[in-house]
Amino acid sequence: MPADILMNYPDSHCSSYYAATSNETLEYPPLRTDVRTDVCVIGAGFTGIATALTLAERGYSVTVLEQNKVGWGASGRSGGQMIGGLPGDASLKKRWGDTHADTVFELGYRGHAIIAQRVQRDGIDCDLKYGYIDVALRPLHLE
Ligand SMILES: Cc1cc2nc3c(=O)[nH]c(=O)nc-3n(C[C@H](O)[C@H](O)[C@H](O)COP(=O)(O)OP(=O)(O)OC[C@H]3O[C@@H](n4cnc5c(N)ncnc54)[C@H](O)[C@@H]3O)c2cc1C
Repeated sequence: MPADILMNYPDSHCSSYYAATSNETLEYPPLRTDVRTDVCVIGAGFTGIATALTLAERGYSVTVLEQNKVGWGASGRSGGQMIGGLPGDASLKKRWGDTHADTVFELGYRGHAIIAQRVQRDGIDCDLKYGYIDVALRPLHLE
């Protein structure tokens, strides 16, 4: 593990398909001593872990502080789908124009590429699959 992960008090993940089919369960020690580190990341969800991993890959010493468990928050409750689009992209375009909105949109796809690279490079056995469907919940959505 490239970064140290310290937790105040471990708790269990919410019940989900991912929790039930997880390949391994990792437990990390509570923080009980002073720690010197280049960067301290608070929160071990997608954002914190991706930040910590990226910094550690660039040679920084990184400590992640998580109050529950890795992936305990929204990241452990998500559908786990790598899909395009952002909520509110229409208002983003309206407010900031096409160029800025397109940049933000493209960032989402760069994120997909980073996930795919890491899964391949680190041999992560996560059953990565591509493809999704957009469903219409109301007749209006068909438009
Ligand atoms: C039901 C649901 C379905 C979703 N489906 C998808 C999907 O299919 N695809 C997709 O791309 N996105 C999906 N999302 C959105 C996605 O899950 C979130 O955008 C993403 O997980 C956010 O990650 P995060 O690291 O920013 O936050 P979180 O995962 O919430 O991580 C924050 C972490 O910080 C910890 N923390 C907070 N405060 C402190 C503190 N003071 N000290 C220490 N630790 C602290 C929390 O315990 C938590 O673990 C879904 C979200 C939900 C809720």
